[in-house]
Amino acid sequence: MEELLKPIVAEIFDQNDWGQPAQYIPELAGIDPKQFAVSVCLADGRTVSAGSASKPFSIQSISKVFSLMLALGRVGDQLWSRVGREPSGTSFDSVVLLEKERGRPRNPFINAGAIVTTDALLSGREPRTALAEILTLVKDMSGSEDIYINESVAASEQETGSRNMALAYYLKSHGNLSCTPEQTLGTYYHQCAIEMTTEQLAMAGRSLAGFDGAPKIISHEHIRRVNALMMTCGHYDGSGDFAFRVGLPGKSGVGGGILIIAPNVASIAIWSPGLNHYGNSNAGTRAAEMLSRATDWSVF
Ligand code: GLU
Repeated sequence: MEELLKPIVAEIFDQNDWGQPAQYIPELAGIDPKQFAVSVCLADGRTVSAGSASKPFSIQSISKVFSLMLALGRVGDQLWSRVGREPSGTSFDSVVLLEKERGRPRNPFINAGAIVTTDALLSGREPRTALAEILTLVKDMSGSEDIYINESVAASEQETGSRNMALAYYLKSHGNLSCTPEQTLGTYYHQCAIEMTTEQLAMAGRSLAGFDGAPKIISHEHIRRVNALMMTCGHYDGSGDFAFRVGLPGKSGVGGGILIIAPNVASIAIWSPGLNHYGNSNAGTRAAEMLSRATDWSVF
């Protein structure tokens, strides 16, 4: 695996095609895009990394995988009455379909769907309790206590989050938000502002890869479903392209991270903060494509 990662990292730095960090979140906008990390956890317990694998980054929408796991554990299939499970074909923060489909977001990974999922977790609790639960889950899954929420990133998003606020009010107007938009978004921004290294994130993915010995968080059936959603909806309107190029379930975040699952074989975390036009890591997606090709891990 070490030998396999070397040429991938070399090619990423050679091509020098990084994309631009998320500009709409001021705290992320100024990050140097020329950074790269990859970690691979294998079923036999080994973890192999290359690049800045010990550097924490903002996991952003990758947190939606963890909140979905918790919400499924909490409300089970009831969640699907509030959120669909179809790819949206629209951008992560699009308002278009919400209007047409009367406030039921297409899937739990676009922002509207993730806001509903966080609302399901939050209902009947204090935001700090729900957040502590998400953070504890992430720590348990990665086997690391050294994971924090970056308050400046959460505040930065709150200040510029008019679009998410619009989504939340829209959901509320359709009766699909039980808490106030402010409470639900406050919790959502904080879960997005969790920072992890690729080493920690790859470790956290072991439960979704179905490894023996990984923490059992949700049932096998739910693991299958989360992976199916990652494959079909994990990269917004770039999900088809990711499946085409990589052939593995993956979830991206605008912090430049990607969590990728090769069921029963590997859990992979990649980070490079420059984004492509879909809002997914540019170099990260290319690295995932090279890795999938070199290992033949595509599920197809
Ligand atoms: N916190 C980000 C937002 O709501 C998440 C988007 C993403 O990572 O794709 O805009």
